Amino acid sequence: MRLSRYFLPTLKETPSEAKIASHRLMLRAGMIRQGAAGIYSWLPLGHKVLKKIEQIVREEQDRAGAVEMLMPTIQPAELWEESGRYDDYGKEMLRIEDRHERRMLFGPTNEEMITDIFRREVKSYRDLPKNLYHIQWKFRDEIRPRFGVMRGREFLMKDNYSFDLTAEDGVKSYNAMFVAYLRTFARLGLRAIPMRADTGPIGGDLSHEFIILADTGESEVFFHKDFEQLDPMVDVDPSSDLQPIVDEWTALYAATDEIHNADDCDVTDGDLKTGRGIEVGHIFFFGDKYSKPLNASVQGPDGKNAFVQMGSYGIGVSRLVGGIIEASHDENGIIWPEAVAPFKVGLISLNTKKEDCVAACDKLYRELMDAGVDVLYDDTNERAGGKFANMDLIGLPWQIALGPRGLENGVVELKNRATGEREEVALDAIVARMT
Ligand code: ATP
Ligand code: MG
Repeated sequence: MRLSRYFLPTLKETPSEAKIASHRLMLRAGMIRQGAAGIYSWLPLGHKVLKKIEQIVREEQDRAGAVEMLMPTIQPAELWEESGRYDDYGKEMLRIEDRHERRMLFGPTNEEMITDIFRREVKSYRDLPKNLYHIQWKFRDEIRPRFGVMRGREFLMKDNYSFDLTAEDGVKSYNAMFVAYLRTFARLGLRAIPMRADTGPIGGDLSHEFIILADTGESEVFFHKDFEQLDPMVDVDPSSDLQPIVDEWTALYAATDEIHNADDCDVTDGDLKTGRGIEVGHIFFFGDKYSKPLNASVQGPDGKNAFVQMGSYGIGVSRLVGGIIEASHDENGIIWPEAVAPFKVGLISLNTKKEDCVAACDKLYRELMDAGVDVLYDDTNERAGGKFANMDLIGLPWQIALGPRGLENGVVELKNRATGEREEVALDAIVARMT
């Protein structure tokens, strides 16, 4: 992509409304713009990152055996009356009336809707287990939207729902998601700690929040230092018995301030770490909490009908964009982990007045593109200093600079954004180096 054709409205000044680094940097790097409180447009650079995160989330869901679908954002109120949550949900729910005065709502989550779909189609235990997910915009009229996309009102969530005949099988589905979440966050370059959680308005008795550490996190968290020793990239067949892995991760103490109680915590002071955390995922097993009121039952092998045992599992896809920046930035800007970087390489043309230099940059740009390298080519007439600062701000993993002096010597300057290391690389070797 040529920067001259792209849409990247970066800001030099720090926007005063932004209180935390990720919000400031997302505005400055031209990733988002606010439409109304807690509602954002995703500009091209932000949109690219959002899609990359979404894809990693999707791959790990698919690997774990979940099946993708798409439910609408607008739901009828009746379903929520059936479950009893229409009144319980309170002011966080955006209620809408259509032209026929039918009561609708912008979905804050989808337990009711998926249970309705399930009950119409699935009647026998032979069709179980099922695990269905979608990645869809949600709306919650948060009392205090803040920190940019971290606590928005409209936000992108991956949510899935498992259906099993027995509670025992339901726990297996829960475990598969637990492991999928460990892998998902590890692939995003994050260290997430699963913490025992209150089940809140979703209800049920088995629940974990996945929390990443950041100074600007909204809750205080307490956890055993040995979490740092565990490997989240669990490489096992997702259909095997995952209980031992879940046991290993849940044996270590970890709790948010809502649950933590110094008297019950048996971790010695030296082993207990505390910090602030951002919730990036939340999983629940809640048995028949929704299947009972919505009458979603299946016939078991004994011929008797039983309410289906359900779990639900959320990941805050749009919140993760901010969360990753909180975990990975410096005073000059964002430092994208390669897995979610909007482009892998930024190519900087140092002199756009000299024809041979422009021709060499154009050629290198084409060669990188042909080799399948995702590259943002700064072909604009800005000064070199401004171009370097801009590249640091948007945080692409690699920067390649080419100017008249390099061209004379047949070299480019390659910079690693994360380490700051610079080296000269032969012009005829740089494409291979980037693939
Ligand atoms: P929180 O306690 O932060 O309000 P929650 O418990 O209400 O979160 P869930 O209902 O479990 O959240 O939603 C699943 C995931 O969706 C959360 O783990 C979080 O990552 C994300 N999420 C929830 N609310 C928001 C929001 N207002 N803005 C962005 N992401 C959100
Ligand atoms: Mg909430």
